[in-house]
Amino acid sequence: MLTTNPFDDDKLREECGVFGIYPHPQSAALVALGLHALQHRGQEAAGVVTFDGKHFHSHHAMGHVGDNFSSQSGVVSRLVGHAGIGHVRYSTTGDSIMRNVQPLFADFEFGGFALAHNGNLTNALLLRRQLVRRGCLFQSTTDTEVIVHLMATARSGSVVDRMVEALRQVEGAYAIVAMANDMVVGVRDPLGVRPLVIGRIGDSHVLASETCALDIIGADFLRDVEPGEMVVIDSSGLHSMRPFQPQPRRFCIFEYIYFARPDSVVEGSSVYEARKRIGMQLARESEVEADLVIPVPDSGVPAAIGYSVQSGIPFELGIIRNHYVGRTFIEPTDQIRNLGVKLKHNANRHMIEGKRIILVDDSIVRGTTSVKIVEMMRRAGAREVHMRISSPPTTHSCFYGVDTPRKDKLLAHRLSIAEMNGFIGSDSLAFVSMDGLYKALGEPGRDPARPQYCDACFSGDYPIALADRDSLQEPGVTFRVEAKAS
Ligand code: SF4
Repeated sequence: MLTTNPFDDDKLREECGVFGIYPHPQSAALVALGLHALQHRGQEAAGVVTFDGKHFHSHHAMGHVGDNFSSQSGVVSRLVGHAGIGHVRYSTTGDSIMRNVQPLFADFEFGGFALAHNGNLTNALLLRRQLVRRGCLFQSTTDTEVIVHLMATARSGSVVDRMVEALRQVEGAYAIVAMANDMVVGVRDPLGVRPLVIGRIGDSHVLASETCALDIIGADFLRDVEPGEMVVIDSSGLHSMRPFQPQPRRFCIFEYIYFARPDSVVEGSSVYEARKRIGMQLARESEVEADLVIPVPDSGVPAAIGYSVQSGIPFELGIIRNHYVGRTFIEPTDQIRNLGVKLKHNANRHMIEGKRIILVDDSIVRGTTSVKIVEMMRRAGAREVHMRISSPPTTHSCFYGVDTPRKDKLLAHRLSIAEMNGFIGSDSLAFVSMDGLYKALGEPGRDPARPQYCDACFSGDYPIALADRDSLQEPGVTFRVEAKAS
């Protein structure tokens, strides 16, 4: 596994980021910049496709955007065109091989078509079987490719009609940016699980997973693409369609807790502010006497600030992150993962010695990192270590485009909170409550009859059917659902 994630190897990982722009004479450079701002959503591979009015141009590469689309490489200047889309990827479905790097590209009767997808389709395996039986030859092992084949076998003719016909057959979570001859299309699944925003720079429209990708190119934020909305951007402007049955929105609540960048605004709320409010709620729910509030860097910082504000206990940086760990090839073994923590973080002994500390982190997945960090605090002389987590316990796997270990690998699935506290070695452990989390996001609480967000990794309440989860692999079909079946 190639990881460049500087935060933590024991975290859930967002799958992908998408970006598109039309029309702009420097579309490739702006797409590359947008992808650079979305790098936290996927560090395994990146791709850009542009259209110059006659021809499509593309570049796909494993690794970081900055390493593959630098001005010295000359790649961006070769990607000519006034329209462009791009994708950063961290895979969960499909192997980490070049042919899976998006945007996918296909030639249709109507011309070329490029597709970039953030999310995960939950009936892709079943659809793929049907398509293979009908003679479709798949080029990749990603779930996304079924959309291309469903478009190829659609009855209707235009690009947009074919996309609608294809997307009406898929289930799951998707934020898609696509490009055909002289148009860029953005679409979100009917529940709006994954984010997609619209921006504007001069006469150009921009589509991006998060607003931080608009900021980097100086584009203004216009609005979110609504759940179930398809926007078509062409030479006459932006057109909105609602081709799917309306459904109650179920945006991914984990975007607020961890995935999205804190400087982004998602679904109308500042991620940074939301994280601070969650920290304040956590402090209200799990008070403890202590001398310092210390964040687990970097993702725990806004919640720790909120905890400190609410509790009145001073905030200090008790763990210092090494910013120069750089690219590390990490074997997916617990032993090496544990070593990674030592490489990346060090205790600020001067601050910690003899103190009662509250450590604030955003989540506990396998728990391996928490064990190491608590141990590090004790070795640095902490008198008491109280762990506070700004999410409810992660008890279930995600099937909607987030890399999660199998359910039986999740610490909170195996152990009670008291047992987790013993495993981690902390003096006390508390998580924000589900209702508290919803309150911090401006809701009166979680409506159990109709939850306002997707919170399936905490509740097991999956808002979209998981058709592939129980289906068996068929001989001759190489597609598999990786590490996601619980
Ligand atoms: Fe987000 Fe969790 Fe739902 Fe996945 S299961 S979409 S991570 S809230």
